[in-house]
Amino acid sequence: MHASDPPQTPPQWDVRMRGFQRRSTVEEALAWVAEHSKPGPLETVSIWQASGRVLGQSVTSPIDVPAFDRAMMDGYALRAADIQGASSYNPLKLRIIGESLPGRPCERQLERGEAVRIMTGAPVPGGGDSVLPAERCDEHGDDLLAQDDVPPGKNIGRTGEDVRSGTLILRAGRQLRPQDLGLLSSIGHSTVFVHQRPKVRLVITGHELLPAGSTPRGVQIADANGPMLASLVERDGGSLVQQRATTVDDYLVDDNPDELSRAMLGEADVVLVSGGSSVGREDHAPLLLARHGELAIHGIAMRPSSPAGMGRIGSKLVFLLPGNPVSCLCAYDFFAGRAIRLLGGRPADWPYRKVRLPLARKLVSTVGRVDYCRVRLETELVEPISISGASVLSSTTRADGFVVVPADCEGYPPGAEVDVWLYG
Ligand code: AMP
Ligand code: MG
Repeated sequence: MHASDPPQTPPQWDVRMRGFQRRSTVEEALAWVAEHSKPGPLETVSIWQASGRVLGQSVTSPIDVPAFDRAMMDGYALRAADIQGASSYNPLKLRIIGESLPGRPCERQLERGEAVRIMTGAPVPGGGDSVLPAERCDEHGDDLLAQDDVPPGKNIGRTGEDVRSGTLILRAGRQLRPQDLGLLSSIGHSTVFVHQRPKVRLVITGHELLPAGSTPRGVQIADANGPMLASLVERDGGSLVQQRATTVDDYLVDDNPDELSRAMLGEADVVLVSGGSSVGREDHAPLLLARHGELAIHGIAMRPSSPAGMGRIGSKLVFLLPGNPVSCLCAYDFFAGRAIRLLGGRPADWPYRKVRLPLARKLVSTVGRVDYCRVRLETELVEPISISGASVLSSTTRADGFVVVPADCEGYPPGAEVDVWLYG
């Protein structure tokens, strides 16, 4: 069948101009996401490119760091017993027999009554058991006058003090921090096993859309969802397959079934379709997904985002995100972002910080659907933003965060404590 041929009798998932018979619950949609978003394969990357990537295998150090006892101060390596009782009134004399520099050790063994001039990071010569800091002694030719004593072991960094051979230093699943890369290097790892970043394709549809950032003309509007989704995908560790550009937007796709099919069938692990997913005559995406693969869920009991859907084409996950920008953001955050994080080995949870604070006013919600309410924080109180329209994207830029009201809840009275997820 040709992609644009309409089926003879509309099957039950063809909801165009009829509306949803039944909406899935948010829980059902989340369960579908969990079932189909198992972490993908690992890859090896250089430690120079691994920042922020998710560790695929735990790392155990094969070596001690440092591999030798080293000086922690500039001064003199010596035997503590030789200068017991030394003070500025009672300087004790040692003979300087050499010098140990970082990377250039003194090869001689320290005997009783001897000292080696030593710099921070240099190996402590054999026989030495402590380092007397330079400011607590005087050098006169080959003689050292110690004006203080030190306990044995003082100012020496022991072998394995940083990392002991055989210890687990980084656990699988960790998102690598800059200091982790330094530590990997210090145990001799130049590369690291990380989860592959899921490849994400953006398919932004709508006859009315101009490339992101274009000046709106007449009834044409600029694509708001493209740049927003690109940034969300990046946040969640996905890798966009298309080039991001302001002049040529290869993710903008016409609202016609052929173009849309081609775009949805393109190479990716996850396809995000924005727009054309609802019950309008021009909303082809759900039918195309059903035709090319499986439309698992379409219509979810939530607001906004109720026309959202999801399914698969082969092993590729396809998310149908409503075109209304707030719905698009909400549907992405509830489902698509979670899938992308899980595929890349990250925790499913939102990467938002959560605070629990009392409501300034009552927050009304309808029983039977999950509500995503934008709120502001005003002097430690949660102020719901009254605009409920899914098309008012600025409601999310004015908001500090959002409150999720569960389906079985009709809202909260003033003063009730609620969890606020902070956008920042
Ligand atoms: P749709 O989901 O295609 O029915 O679109 C719903 C509403 O969102 C319409 O008012 C569209 O013009 C608008 N819309 C769709 N896609 C975008 C987009 N990428 N950026 C901004 N608004 C959009
Ligand atoms: Mg549309």
